[in-house]
Amino acid sequence: MRKKLSRNIESLVVTDINSKGMGVAKDTSGAVYFIKETIPGDVVNINVYKKRRGYFEAQPTAFLKKSPHRVTPPCTHFGLCGGCKWQHFEYAQQLKFKEAGVLRNLQKIGKVNPEETLPIMAAPDAYWYRNKLEFSFSTNRWLTPAEVESKEEHVRLGLGFHKPGRWDKIVSIDTCHLQIEPSNKIRNALRDFAIEEQIPFFDLQQQRGLLRTLMIRNTQAGDFMVLLQFFETKPKEQEKVLTFLKNEFPEITSLLYCINSKANDTIYDQEINLFAGKDHLIETMGTLKFKITSKSFYQTNPKQAYALYELVKSFAALEGNEIVYDLYSGTGTIALFLAALCKKIVGVESIPEAVEDAKYNAQINQVKNATFEVGDMKHIFDKTFIEKHGKPDLIVADPPRDGMHKKVIHQIIALQAPKLIYVSCNSATQARDLEKLSCIYNVEISQAVDLFPQTSHVENVVLLRRK
Ligand code: SAH
Repeated sequence: MRKKLSRNIESLVVTDINSKGMGVAKDTSGAVYFIKETIPGDVVNINVYKKRRGYFEAQPTAFLKKSPHRVTPPCTHFGLCGGCKWQHFEYAQQLKFKEAGVLRNLQKIGKVNPEETLPIMAAPDAYWYRNKLEFSFSTNRWLTPAEVESKEEHVRLGLGFHKPGRWDKIVSIDTCHLQIEPSNKIRNALRDFAIEEQIPFFDLQQQRGLLRTLMIRNTQAGDFMVLLQFFETKPKEQEKVLTFLKNEFPEITSLLYCINSKANDTIYDQEINLFAGKDHLIETMGTLKFKITSKSFYQTNPKQAYALYELVKSFAALEGNEIVYDLYSGTGTIALFLAALCKKIVGVESIPEAVEDAKYNAQINQVKNATFEVGDMKHIFDKTFIEKHGKPDLIVADPPRDGMHKKVIHQIIALQAPKLIYVSCNSATQARDLEKLSCIYNVEISQAVDLFPQTSHVENVVLLRRK
């Protein structure tokens, strides 16, 4: 449903911002416009160039008033790179719009009105908060408009993030403001070394070239894991780049590689090899320790994840005798957080490796009252499961973006646990699920938690109490 057009409209007030960082405005007839390079508070003349289903896309032709909330993005890749699309919008305002967006979803989609809405929890670090980044090598990096105009010869080898909407183009990154150093230093040094040594970068279109992807993870204490993905086996070259990283960066305590000759570059079905150091990192959260392997899920903003789990703990208000279910438990973070405060806790998770990690994490933290089951919630969460583990006094659910399967919701309704805490990274699907759950639950408290500054993403935690 794309139609080319060109139409001018004058004096539109931008009132909202979308996930792509485009300002949103409505005209007097109620038609919606997504306007490039604008933010709430701008008043603009626009040229409408595209019709989409339900809205128009436009660009500003004149700014009649500039929003006081505009800030200069610190990142030189802003606008080209797919991440951090709200950098030009003051952080305090980002929070305001995230909070309003969550509440609007609960009310409009879910038709629920929380009895109490607590103010959104801001992230302590607006930048440098991520503990994991994944970069791709490319023989055909995206050129900036200035580079295209300059008509000079440019090095086309790049290492960075995908250009949004272009699977075959990589925006080569010099400084990413999301991960602490030496993340940038590692990536740039590796890129320069590989160019100098003429080690082939991956050609996404032709599917050839040795160096494929680079994953960098870190703990808050500053230990780094680096996983280099090669397309083929070339022992001499592999040894060369891995030895370079090992010698240059003592911060790398886990140096790994894999060889993936498949068409797609996901590492999750690949065998991971250890080159130097350990095969994992140990992250600390409060008094707990968590093992992080190359494939395991761990919240990407660890400082704010801690705040999120503390919030779950306070909503849970456990007294010590409860049976608790932690649905969609990942590597067991929430379960281990609550274990000391209740009689027993049962985690459910579909990825076997994550469950292995959860069990290991229980062990290293001497938690004895947590058990973990592997399975898809919509199959495993049945009568037998409940007979085995007992009826829960509290359910905590932290499903992925698409929310909970309707079978799971029916089971929760049938169970009638006195309390349910629903943690969500997508308040639209959360709202959809809350509407169904509202037949037996009151939505008592809702609080958004910002784990992803500079993006439109936000977590929301809701406490439900049985009617
Ligand atoms: N509570 C954890 C993980 C939350 S992410 C934490 O905070 O770290 C959601 C988790 O749900 C992921 O680990 C994902 O693997 C798991 N998951 C997704 N679909 C699932 C399903 N159908 N059944 C069980 N687990 C599922």
